[in-house]
Amino acid sequence: MSGSFPHNFLPTAPGQEHLKELLYRAIENGRIASTYLFRGNICLGKFAFALDFVRWVKCENPTTCAGECRSCRLITKLDHPDLEVVVPLTTEIEDKPEKIADVMASMAENPFAFQYFDKKPKIGIDAIRGLNERIALSSSSAGGRWTIVRDADMMTLEASNAFLKTLEEPPEDAHIILTSSRPDFLLPTILSRSQSLQFKRLSRSKIAGFAVKMGKSASEADALALSADGSLAPIFKAEDEVAVKAKELAENLWAVMFTESDPRALDLAEEIGKDASLVKAVFDEAVSFFRDHLMAQIGKSELVVNTQTAERIALAAQKFPNSERISRLIDYLNERAQDLMFYPQYDLFIMATVIEGRKILHGEIF
Ligand SMILES: [Zn+2]
Repeated sequence: MSGSFPHNFLPTAPGQEHLKELLYRAIENGRIASTYLFRGNICLGKFAFALDFVRWVKCENPTTCAGECRSCRLITKLDHPDLEVVVPLTTEIEDKPEKIADVMASMAENPFAFQYFDKKPKIGIDAIRGLNERIALSSSSAGGRWTIVRDADMMTLEASNAFLKTLEEPPEDAHIILTSSRPDFLLPTILSRSQSLQFKRLSRSKIAGFAVKMGKSASEADALALSADGSLAPIFKAEDEVAVKAKELAENLWAVMFTESDPRALDLAEEIGKDASLVKAVFDEAVSFFRDHLMAQIGKSELVVNTQTAERIALAAQKFPNSERISRLIDYLNERAQDLMFYPQYDLFIMATVIEGRKILHGEIF
């Protein structure tokens, strides 16, 4: 019975045809389970797949819609009243709505990528209590009320026990998808109440095809697929490496601004400038270091985002406490970032930025 689902059924995540087949039949027969467990290695696209499934079930016109109906758009933004997404968070984030909103926005932008935190995240009891209350509400549109719990194995024991009550007696019309790469860490009682769907390793051609879809060249895609070992991880790892590099260079750029005439600035400008894909990211990150500097300096160190560098930032904020000049420099860097694309000679552009930036810090330019 292979291939009996429409070609636009769950189009986002690659592969997993056996699951598409099974889920399509469940929809056709009106037998959508109340709880699914999407299990399988990390980076197979389980979360993206779950979103796709909810999109299809809630879509105003699934056979012709390409994600543009109101319902699909809201689900894509993780903003649909009938969709709740629960993810592991660190204690620093879990009670701060604006930081949670950032995490949600980044997941909506790329439902495939890992979420990185500087401490171990968890799904705590409060998140599950809130979920239990909201899940009892009735859905606002056809297709039921959906909850996706990403990396459900990160639930604390307390949270798992609280969640069990909902799983035992799921409200009518409520559906839950748990995703997990470590289902052995889930309570047996949770496992036994879920319909388990096993995600398979992806073939090289599927991985390469996906890499091309993500903007890689054909030869890059082939190389990534070769090293992929059945998952999409290397595609995102390559991007993460750029992000890590950008942060490192940005930290150096921030530090070098405070020196009088450090010859390292030239080397740094050259290094940043030779990789066009890095330049914008370095600029954005550099702004975040100066903003942190300002926060530390006005006594709001809880708002510092580069927490790994917090100590160095606190020290620098003591050494250079002129918040007016730092603010001016942040404005200047933001302005420069807008101009970036007009100056393809990035190394010179960055060197000029350092020189001007130093003048601002020394009070030579206002
Ligand atoms: Zn739609």
